[in-house]
Amino acid sequence: MREEKTLEDLVIPGDRLGVAEEFLPGPGTYEVGYQIRAAAIGKVVKDLLNKVVSVKPYKLPVMPYSGAIVLAVVIEMREDFARTKILAVNNILLNYSFTGILHVSQVVEKAGEIKQMYSYVRIGDVVKSKVLNSFPPYLLTIKDAKLGVVLASCSKCGTQLRLSKDKLKCPECGNIETRKLGHGYGSVYIEAGDTKATFGR
Ligand SMILES: [Zn+2]
Repeated sequence: MREEKTLEDLVIPGDRLGVAEEFLPGPGTYEVGYQIRAAAIGKVVKDLLNKVVSVKPYKLPVMPYSGAIVLAVVIEMREDFARTKILAVNNILLNYSFTGILHVSQVVEKAGEIKQMYSYVRIGDVVKSKVLNSFPPYLLTIKDAKLGVVLASCSKCGTQLRLSKDKLKCPECGNIETRKLGHGYGSVYIEAGDTKATFGR
């Protein structure tokens, strides 16, 4: 059967969509005083066949924003910063990756403790970070105790490092490395649409 969708408009909650004599209120709408109004931001869909008006909610694309917790992979190391690709925002996979910059001053709380970037993160690490601004390139921080590296590989042989006490140890070659660790080291949970996956274990 052919769908009788004739009109698609963007509306905001409260917008008048029609009167109750013309249409029945469908999903995303409400009826008040014989008028049907939008209950969501979205597109109006008027089903002329069944005389139902509904609002299909408009889904905003997932983007990094100030205060968001993101998962970022380190792709380049410099002495005082790491360049990353932000892969997920609040555990939701992004359609496009964005650049995130983690400066060495955003790694630990006390300035006196600052060492070389290399002793906190390394290339290939997955870093749970907080975003500090709302436009690219996004500036990241991992000062909070919960934030930091959540997956890391051995610099010698590439095997995923295991956490034992507060050191990272390679189960293959025994190499021991240090990072600024985040809570939950060893697994990364990501959602993409209906797919949910945990990496690392
Ligand atoms: Zn190793």
